[in-house]
Amino acid sequence: MRQMILAADKAERQSALNKLLAMQREDISMLVTYLLSFLLSVHAGLAEDASIRFAAQRWPELLPIAAEVICELGWWIEARGDRICRRDERGYVRSFHVGFDSEKLLHEWLVDWHRRAALDATVRVRRSLHRDGDEEDLAQGLSLPTVPTGSLCVYAGHRKAYEASANRHVRNSALATGCSVWAKAAKQRVPAERIKTCGCGASFPSRPHLLWQCSATEHLRPRCEAPKNRVEERMLARVVPELPAPPCVIGDDEVLEAITVDIEKLLRDKGTVTVGTDGSVVSEVAAWAVAIHGGGTHASGVIGEDQSPYRAEVEGIRRLLLAASSCTGSGRLVIISDCKSAIDTAFGRGQATLLVAEVEALLAAVCGLGIEVTLHWVPSHGKLAPTRWRPPPGGELLARFLNDAADRAAKAHAGLRARRSAREACLAARAGAAEWETQAITGLAKIAEFYDLQ
Ligand SMILES: [Zn+2]
Repeated sequence: MRQMILAADKAERQSALNKLLAMQREDISMLVTYLLSFLLSVHAGLAEDASIRFAAQRWPELLPIAAEVICELGWWIEARGDRICRRDERGYVRSFHVGFDSEKLLHEWLVDWHRRAALDATVRVRRSLHRDGDEEDLAQGLSLPTVPTGSLCVYAGHRKAYEASANRHVRNSALATGCSVWAKAAKQRVPAERIKTCGCGASFPSRPHLLWQCSATEHLRPRCEAPKNRVEERMLARVVPELPAPPCVIGDDEVLEAITVDIEKLLRDKGTVTVGTDGSVVSEVAAWAVAIHGGGTHASGVIGEDQSPYRAEVEGIRRLLLAASSCTGSGRLVIISDCKSAIDTAFGRGQATLLVAEVEALLAAVCGLGIEVTLHWVPSHGKLAPTRWRPPPGGELLARFLNDAADRAAKAHAGLRARRSAREACLAARAGAAEWETQAITGLAKIAEFYDLQ
């Protein structure tokens, strides 16, 4: 990958590409991993011979294989590589802003894509697999329907149960394995025929039978709702909605304008403006806020797919600098934030290269107007200051006061945006699914232990 990005000429690049092609044709997952590593390499500034912006914009040309992977996923590239887009299960176009949005977001999209593909390929979900013979005699599960193609399960209950317990039955149950006559026969090294009779009198009990149907295990049956499809019955998983797009941001321009007006007035009257900035996330919906000493407190939503806490913190500083860049007048702007990594963006350090470059450029633009800008860290609400910490100009009390005000405003605004949003509903549905999965898995573990001793 590195060889290809840094290739001196077309022939060298083609040779590197051929090597990758031979490797990558095998498996789409590997292609996807390479795509991610490419995006990360752009972020790490690997493209030494070109500016980062240039490399990020030209990546579909530099890396046709990554562009091919995007197509194979059913996604597409817009604006010469600025955006990676896909249509979600609700029919909305979702857009990943390369260099601005956190790669974690793209990673989540890819994980979801693979989860859907894996579920679609799961034979015990797709097919009934009911055994032929005398139906009365065989200890099988119910005849339940499959789930629609492209259904999504995130297995939150499974992961939690697996990680929380070292118990063999719990771990097997979290993997939806064990607890059948065949598993028991393999463990005891005897033919299944010899131990075929279930406690209920039927023969060759399957896992779905023991868990959901068997009269001999009824006293241990999980209390959750009975399964309605084969994913629930056999995988102990519930289909969940995909995380919907974040709610729209309305009135952002007015907020920026109000900040500009406040800063201009304070520069004129006092020569110095002290501003606390903060970001907050509620139910995967982000907002940023600024609290201006002697002015107002202003909050708005984070625009775009990346609703991470880091992005919310950075947006506080970025939007403040954007508002300040439209000011007339000179003086001093003191910015206070409780997030060191967000402050770092103003000095060219951070996770998303183009976002960082923009914050850096905005800072330069504001300084170019004759406004001296300094950024200061303050311990977040209620936390003690380290002994070596030097409070910002204006003192600790003011810094903490502005930080608190920005924090409260950001939290309130994020809460307002999240309330009754599709994201909030999705998280509630997912919490319900995780609870159902936990009960099913715990129930299966108990039944597995009971059946083991029979
Ligand atoms: Zn039985």
